[in-house]
Amino acid sequence: MSKFPTHKIAIIGAGAVGATSAYAAAIRNIAAQILLIDVNEKKEEGEVMDIRDGLCFTETGGIIGANYPDAADADVIIITAGLPQKPGETRLDLITKNKKILEEIFAGIGKLRDDTIVVIVANPVDILTYLAQKISGLPEHQVFGTGTTLDSARLQIAISQALEVYPQSVQGFVLGEHGDSEFVAWSTVTVGGIPASDIKALSPALKKKIEEQVRNKAYEIISRKGATFYGIALVVADIIESILFDQKKILPITTHLVRCNGVSGVCLGSPAIIGRHGILGHWPVKLHSDESKRFQNSAKIIGKIIKSIE
Ligand code: NAD
Repeated sequence: MSKFPTHKIAIIGAGAVGATSAYAAAIRNIAAQILLIDVNEKKEEGEVMDIRDGLCFTETGGIIGANYPDAADADVIIITAGLPQKPGETRLDLITKNKKILEEIFAGIGKLRDDTIVVIVANPVDILTYLAQKISGLPEHQVFGTGTTLDSARLQIAISQALEVYPQSVQGFVLGEHGDSEFVAWSTVTVGGIPASDIKALSPALKKKIEEQVRNKAYEIISRKGATFYGIALVVADIIESILFDQKKILPITTHLVRCNGVSGVCLGSPAIIGRHGILGHWPVKLHSDESKRFQNSAKIIGKIIKSIE
C-alpha cells in the first residue's frame, strides 16, 4: 500500500473515542490523511503529536490537527463529538445538547463534497443519525451510525468464549436500538456455519446469560474505567475500510428504515451493505416473530424520542 495519502478522513471529536479511532485507523494501514478536529485544541494537538510518533511503523499517510472547513472535501467524516450524560440530566437534555453540537459541526464545515460519507458514533447514536441525516443535507444512504456493530462484536466474543472457538467463526447480529432495548437476533447467529438453534451447548439459559452480558457490557466497562473506546475504535476503523475500499461488508449500522421487519421512518441498528457510496442496500435478514416484536419495540422507543424533539 502506498505511503502517500490517497484518501482524507476527518474525525470530529478528539476525545477517548475519536483519538483511539484515529489510532486504530492509522495502525490498520489505511492510506489516508487523517484530520482530527476538536474544540479543545490543546487536546487535539496532543493526540495528533502522540499518534504521529507512531506513523513510521505504519503505511498511513499522515495525521494533522484541523478545523471544521478542512473536513469539507473529506471522503469520510466520523463524528464522535458529544457531551456525556451528567448525573441527574435526562436523556432528552443530552440529545438537545448533542443536536446543537451536530448543527455547529455541519455549519462549521460548510458545503460538503457530494460523495462524502458521514458516520455518527456519538450517543444516542440512533437519534443523532436521524438528526444528522436532516442537518447534513446529504442523501440518507451517505449518513449512517455505528448502530449495533459494537454490540454484535460483543456477541461474537461472548459466544466464542462460551464455545471456545475463534470469534470470527461466529456470525450474528444484535439489532435495534444501540441501548437498553437492543436484542440478540438468535435467528441470525451461526457458528462455523451451524445455526445457533442446532448447537446444544447454546442452551436457553446460556443464551439469556450471553444476551444480558452483551447488553450490560458498556455499563460494566464504564463502571471500571469510565469510558469505552478500544472496541468502538476498531469498529470505526472497520467501517472506514469498508467505505474507502468498497469492501461491501454487511454490518448492523444505524440506518433509516423503510418497511424493514415492520418498521418504517426511524433510524435503528439493522444490517446493511457498506461500500464507497455509503449504504449500498439493506440486508434482508428474516427475523422470528418474537424478534420482529422486539425490533418494533426498539423502533417505538426511538420514534417517541424523535417525535418529542421535532
Ligand atoms: P470524550 O468526552 O472523551 O470526547 C468527546 C470530545 O468531543 C471531547 O474531546 C470534546 O472536546 C469534543 N467536542 C465537544 N463538542 C465538540 C464540537 N462542537 N466540535 C468538536 N469537538 C467537540 O467522549 P468519548 O469517550 O470520546 O465519547 C464520545 C461519544 O462516543 C459519546 O457520545 C459516547 O457515548 C459515544 N460512544 C459511542 C459508542 C458506540 O457504540 N456508538 C461507543 C462508545 C462511545
